[in-house]
Amino acid sequence: MTLDSSPIVAIATAPGRGGIGVVRVSGKNLGTMVTAICTLPQGAALQPRHATYTNFVDADGSVIDQGLALYFKAPHSYTGEDVLELQGHGGPVVMQLLLARCLQAGNGIDLRMAQPGEFTHRAFLNDKLDLAQAEAVADLIEASTEAAARSASQSLSGVFSSIIHTLVEQVTQLRMLVEATLDFPEEEIDFLEKSDARGKLDTIRSSLDQVFQQAAQGALLRDGLNIVLAGQPNVGKSSLLNALAGADVAIVTPIAGTTRDKVTETIQIEGIPLNIIDTAGIRDSADAADDVERIGIARTWAAVEQADVIIHMLDACRGPTLADEHITARFPDNVPVMRVWNKIDLSGHRPAIDRLDNATHIYLSATDKLGMELLRAELLRLAGWQQTGESLYLARERHLIALGAARLHLNAAAEHAALNDHALDLFAEELRLAQDRLSSITGEFTSDDLLGVIFSRFCIGK
Ligand code: GDP
Ligand code: ZN
Repeated sequence: MTLDSSPIVAIATAPGRGGIGVVRVSGKNLGTMVTAICTLPQGAALQPRHATYTNFVDADGSVIDQGLALYFKAPHSYTGEDVLELQGHGGPVVMQLLLARCLQAGNGIDLRMAQPGEFTHRAFLNDKLDLAQAEAVADLIEASTEAAARSASQSLSGVFSSIIHTLVEQVTQLRMLVEATLDFPEEEIDFLEKSDARGKLDTIRSSLDQVFQQAAQGALLRDGLNIVLAGQPNVGKSSLLNALAGADVAIVTPIAGTTRDKVTETIQIEGIPLNIIDTAGIRDSADAADDVERIGIARTWAAVEQADVIIHMLDACRGPTLADEHITARFPDNVPVMRVWNKIDLSGHRPAIDRLDNATHIYLSATDKLGMELLRAELLRLAGWQQTGESLYLARERHLIALGAARLHLNAAAEHAALNDHALDLFAEELRLAQDRLSSITGEFTSDDLLGVIFSRFCIGK
């Protein structure tokens, strides 16, 4: 991502048609642009934080649209810069016209199109948000379940960041204590006892463990569980998906081989997104009719390797077929497999769960909704979901990695303390490393490369 301080512009609302569409501009010296586009009374300017009803006009004075102009003066804006929002009618053509008009009128101030996430990146650089909060903006927009959205909101409002700050604060205090002692070598000997450094470290370690666990739950709400639904045509994969979703999301049909492509459906159990890939009864690629099908099959196997769990579905009336053995042989060793025996309403089995030969077997009926709760509970168990009843904050894999690394440094510090080897300098160094890792979560020590990666995944206009 190239960073300069040019004013930027983008359509901030989603593509497509809507009641209102917003073009947003951020940067310095927006005044002349405003007077060129908006039909304000002679000599007037937009009043910060007031909505002004106006025409939006072309260079020749012809009206593009009518709407509201909003102006936010730096630093009291989303980005921390001057921000202008033009709210017009939410049609793709009128929005494009308004955008083009902004670029034209902003030519003199080097106005350019914003890159993905650039508004939020500026907000971060201007200290309007820390990095974890900025990530929460994207996660709130992307949230696929209500629980994920609520947790992202928590993170955005700074709940997660302040927990991290508290940890950093505690580590810093302990470190200052240790470093002060380093200057007086004769006192090092009983420093650990006198200052209760060990006790303090243990307290920090247990808070960190707690934060890690909560963050792991938050990451689960964000990323969910990737599930591959495999099995022969007509065993009831689509029906199971529908039964789990509680709505008709997948096409259920009695004609074999209808689900031709890899289809991902996100459904939820207790707010956890389950990203389910409903595979067509995977055929051998040698049997594939054409290249398109072969590519589809290759993609499906790639998805199988990335899965958190494979649901291998079978017909409880028929038992496993030769084709099932072929499928099973190709399952990767490192992905847990759940065998779901469907249609027990016909076979006469009871709803049940059995853990046998490295696989869990569940007996159910997707259409008659028998045994579905066994499957739901098993999926939640595999996901590592613990019902705490507490409100969560959303977290990302990146945060978990940083927390995990910080934990290792604190463990190493504890070892130095336990050895009583007078290696207080090493003890202090581990604290410093832990502190750096924790700070990277909120972005105090974060490389430009990482920032680029994080913000480039945002949508344009955010
Ligand atoms: P898929 O090809 O594996 O996706 O299978 P579908 O979900 O399309 O189901 C194939 C047929 O089996 C449909 O006619 C379903 O109504 C039927 N079916 C699915 N699950 C059950 C079940 O639990 N009991 C009974 N009796 N029929 C089922
Ligand atoms: Zn199907």
